[in-house]
Amino acid sequence: MDAELRELYQQVILDHNKSPRNFRVIEQPSNSSEGYNPLCGDKINLYLTIEDEIVKDISFQGSGCAISKASASLMSSIIKGKTIEETKKIFEKFQEMITGRLDENSDLESLGKLTVLEGVKEFPARVKCAGLAWHTLINAINKKKEPVTTE
Ligand code: ZN
Repeated sequence: MDAELRELYQQVILDHNKSPRNFRVIEQPSNSSEGYNPLCGDKINLYLTIEDEIVKDISFQGSGCAISKASASLMSSIIKGKTIEETKKIFEKFQEMITGRLDENSDLESLGKLTVLEGVKEFPARVKCAGLAWHTLINAINKKKEPVTTE
C-alpha cells in the first residue's frame, strides 16, 4: 500500500474514533450483547433493532482503543438497513480480510469503507480489536446471553 493511501486510511480511522457513528443507547433493543477484549481493554455494548430480518437500527457504547472504536463505528454505518443474511456475509468477508485470508481476486466492494481496517492483518493483537464489535454483533443476532470475550 502506498504512503498516501495509508495516510488516508489512518484519517478515516481517527475520524471514526473521534466522532463515532451511532454511539448511543437504543432504549428497547430487540437484541443486545456485550463484548470484551482483555488483551487491550476494549469494551463494547451493542444494541440492535431487528424487524423482519432487517437491522433497522444499530448503536453501541463502550471504551477502548482507536481501532476497536473505529471498527464498531464503521460496522454500525454499514450494517444499518442490511438483512441478517447480508450482515453475516459481510462479517465473514471482514473476518477473512483482517486475518489475511482473502484471496487476491476477492471482490471487496461489499466491504465499502471497512477496507480501511485491512492493515490490521499485519498485527495479530489488533485483529482482536477490529473483530470485537463483529463478534459481539453475531452474538447479539444469535441472542446469546454470555458476553463475548476475545480470549
Ligand atoms: Zn484494542
